[in-house]
Amino acid sequence: MSKLPEDAGWQTLAVHAGETPDEVSGASSPSIVMSTTFTTKDAEAFSIKDFDESDMPYIYTRWGNPTIKQLQDKLCALEGAESCLAFASGMAATSALLLGYLSPGDHLIVSDVQYAGSAELVRHTLPRFGVEVTPVDTSDVSKVEAAIRDKTRLVFIETPINPIIRLADIAAIAAVCRARDVRLAVDSTFASPVITRPIELGADFVVHSLTKYVGGHGDALGGALLGPGDIMMELNEEALVHYGGVISPFNAWLIMRGIATLPIRMQAHSTSAMRVAGFLEAHPAVKRVNYPGLPSHPQHDLAARQMAGFSGMLSFQVEDGPAVAKKMIDELQVIHYAVSLGHHRSLVYWIGTDQIMESSYRLEGRQLAGFREYAGDGVMRLSVGLEDADDLCRDLDRVLS
Ligand code: PLP
Repeated sequence: MSKLPEDAGWQTLAVHAGETPDEVSGASSPSIVMSTTFTTKDAEAFSIKDFDESDMPYIYTRWGNPTIKQLQDKLCALEGAESCLAFASGMAATSALLLGYLSPGDHLIVSDVQYAGSAELVRHTLPRFGVEVTPVDTSDVSKVEAAIRDKTRLVFIETPINPIIRLADIAAIAAVCRARDVRLAVDSTFASPVITRPIELGADFVVHSLTKYVGGHGDALGGALLGPGDIMMELNEEALVHYGGVISPFNAWLIMRGIATLPIRMQAHSTSAMRVAGFLEAHPAVKRVNYPGLPSHPQHDLAARQMAGFSGMLSFQVEDGPAVAKKMIDELQVIHYAVSLGHHRSLVYWIGTDQIMESSYRLEGRQLAGFREYAGDGVMRLSVGLEDADDLCRDLDRVLS
């Protein structure tokens, strides 16, 4: 099959990029290659030192697999990245970057609030390996700039942030990092490549939990790290082949199938989330809604600049979170009370501020006040799915009224 047109649109890329019909059968849908090992007709090949791997693209699935490669190529096309490595989960991708790229003595800057798993890795694991970490409020570029030191090697941000939906200005932080020769990595899980493309905005690395929007159906764990070809080649050897967190080809295939509808899904998630956010903001039982599409979001202007659509993630505060959570478990008819996000099914979960603080950093003074503005005593994190928005509003109204 010939190459895709250079000016192919996002939906065309989402459907076709990276995929090729099966060479033997001509099957239009990509075949799933589950084989862990690949035969060779070359008697020496892998047995000799310094053999040329380009003669033998596939040897063993931990080092490379045709189905996983198709997923990686598709993600490269969507993110505008030179190189992509797919992993068994989003956390495997994050730990590959942080453990594979940083060395003892390096300094890392992270957001003071981030996805709990990443926060725990950064707070508990990295210091054991001699990496110094400074948490900052990444919604304020000047704070990121002020935290950079001679030893700073990486700034790792998340936007929008799980679960408080605070944003970071990728282009502004990238400019500050570039001026000081520091690399910038963005966990863009809440946005997906349809809503925000961090590399176009100047970031060096992008991390995704493919488990969320990219896969989109809540049935396959996966993660991806995208970045510059030379660094990714080193990370391939160290962080994929040696740490071993390789994605199953079956999951790669499921996620690839999910990507075909990603642009359409993100549009639908964004439209419904806007409706639900407006409904919640007007509801007397809701104290505050954090949704980048609402003019009331403190960074709405940045969101309008940086995001194409506002995604399906929002959080809101209510008077007595645990009591409302209990009611949700008993009475919701459409929305599932469950963790995770980015699926076709709507998901809601109560996250108390103590829990967010436990997994992030102990904030004090003005930093704590800024955090409380978004989080209050805790937030209901709502991932707006693909059901009818009216049904979601009625479901929420039933438990809130
Ligand atoms: N990054 C963000 C922003 C997340 O929300 C999550 C999971 O919720 C992860 C990374 C980790 O992804 P996974 O569960 O696929 O390991």
